[in-house]
Amino acid sequence: MEITGICALCEKEKTLKKSHIVPKFIGEWIRNTSKAEHLRNLMNPNKPEQDLPKPHLLCEGCEGILNKAETPFSSNIFYNYHNGSNRFDYDDWLLKFVISLSWRVGTLYFTQNTYQNSHVHNQLKKALNIWSEYLLEKRNDPGLYAHHLYFIDKDKYSSINSVVLKDYAFRVIDTHVRFSFNGHIIIYNKLPGMVIVSYINPISVRGWKGTQLHSFGTARVGSQKTPPEIPNYLLDRAKLFTSKYLNGLSDRQKVNIKSKILKKSEINNVK
Ligand SMILES: [Zn+2]
Repeated sequence: MEITGICALCEKEKTLKKSHIVPKFIGEWIRNTSKAEHLRNLMNPNKPEQDLPKPHLLCEGCEGILNKAETPFSSNIFYNYHNGSNRFDYDDWLLKFVISLSWRVGTLYFTQNTYQNSHVHNQLKKALNIWSEYLLEKRNDPGLYAHHLYFIDKDKYSSINSVVLKDYAFRVIDTHVRFSFNGHIIIYNKLPGMVIVSYINPISVRGWKGTQLHSFGTARVGSQKTPPEIPNYLLDRAKLFTSKYLNGLSDRQKVNIKSKILKKSEINNVK
């Protein structure tokens, strides 16, 4: 069924596509490298999902614009990192990709929550508008907001015993707008092996090292630093995800997952 509506990026009335909030290849990577075969939607864990949420958000043209930065991100960053690289040279496509991801997450927030004329909503809207213009190439700069990409160091995590934290760090996608009580706003994107944070209020904070993205540069795993609240937040989210996931599973689904894991390991043993 075709859905016509206002495209969230170009704001024209168009046929809307089902848009991936997080690129499709990341969901596929999780599925292909997963012990059980399906991704599970954490809001409804008894239903195996073949894909991540896809709201009708963008027209075909805008979908194409946002997808452009995905290809270099997938080959130069995502797969390289998971294949063991620890040094990444990048050009302006990386900042574009990160802004397109945070823009989608922020835009999704307003499709799920009513816009109120509050200070925090206005600040989020303002950032999204600036990023829209940047993505549509109506302006050359994306404003003064700081965007950070932090690679989770596999070597450091290898000594951690917490399966929960390791699973969350390397296998889970978790994206949302985070509003704090003190009025701070960030867009937090946790992808397998990496954390991407876009600051909205304040537009930047101290404590990051080797993570802030510019129009070109080099990022290195192991030499980066985050403010202390980031690892704490990772741990909080890991606990939250695990309890949500386990509480939401029926006993039948738990058995189902177990048998799928067993089946896969039998196949791997035969190979
Ligand atoms: Zn459009």
